[in-house]
Amino acid sequence: MPNRSVLEYSLGFEVYNFELDKVFREIAGRRARRVLIQLPDGMKVHALELAREIESKCGVEVIVSADPCYGGCDVALDEARRLSVDLIIHFGHTPFLKVEESPPVIYIPAFSELPVAGVVEKAVMLLRPHRVVGLVSTVQHVHKLGEAKRILEDRGFKVVIGGRCGRVAFDGQVLGCDVCAALSVMGDVDVFLVIAGGDFHALGVALSTGKPVVVADPYRGEARDISKLLKRTLSLRWSCIAKARDAEVFGVVVGVKPGQAMIEAALKARKLILSYGKRCYLIAAREFSPEVLYPFEDVDVFVIAACPRIAVDDAHRFRKPVITIGELRLALEGFEGVSGLPIPTILGWS
Ligand code: SF4
Repeated sequence: MPNRSVLEYSLGFEVYNFELDKVFREIAGRRARRVLIQLPDGMKVHALELAREIESKCGVEVIVSADPCYGGCDVALDEARRLSVDLIIHFGHTPFLKVEESPPVIYIPAFSELPVAGVVEKAVMLLRPHRVVGLVSTVQHVHKLGEAKRILEDRGFKVVIGGRCGRVAFDGQVLGCDVCAALSVMGDVDVFLVIAGGDFHALGVALSTGKPVVVADPYRGEARDISKLLKRTLSLRWSCIAKARDAEVFGVVVGVKPGQAMIEAALKARKLILSYGKRCYLIAAREFSPEVLYPFEDVDVFVIAACPRIAVDDAHRFRKPVITIGELRLALEGFEGVSGLPIPTILGWS
């Protein structure tokens, strides 16, 4: 591995392992002729290079999906069928869907080649005075968890890595909406260290476990505590929940992406809203943005029956309050007598 600076990595040099040999084998083995490739936005700069490489090695037609792709919940099955694609190569995530995929999907996690030792060392100061550390990461860094564990143990910490569970594929892996690897060990740890780019996954761990969380971010080459972000997020959540309590007209917005089409949960939410004598509209959306919801002027509060992180992370962007399905119950059924923060409710899917 050449010795590269963080700046070079941030410019995209050899950051990810796209496992092209595996991709070539799968394409040949399945006799695919037209392939759709999907990457999360942060990896899309590599899309054309990947398309070129796959086309020249496999002699197949490659179509690059330009649409945003946020997770394994977001596989372009409809688009692939419409374009008569016979194989999807989905980079950057692990399998999430609990439905039969047609056309078939090959998941390439795209493990990051960025070193983590430096940022884990930087996290040590922030992790003290705690003694037992729960260690998790996004899929891009799960292969480095063993190394991170050894570093922390050498610094005197006891380290616990949660096993594979829920919708994840590896021990210690977390998603924005599924942190069961952290939940499964939260009773045994004082603090969590999350190895990830950005604060998105760390916030999910903090919201779900209520434990202090430190991020070791190999992309920025820094470690940071996210307590201020957590405080801001919770205060906004409470404000949205309080507004929902007094609202009269609700819009339950159901996602249409394969892993976000929570129609049953949306219908249950609607029934609950109607039972309180309030009005409710069902709305469907692929992408959630202020512009998409802007025309629905009559709606006081939107309930997101899709990715729960839309409400949690993007609430400040919307003109009207947006809440998760779990928060709807809290708003309607009341939170008097709730002691502390009903944190798991916020990310609750149903
Ligand atoms: S539902 Fe949201 S948080 Fe979960 S995998 Fe999809 S985009 Fe990520």
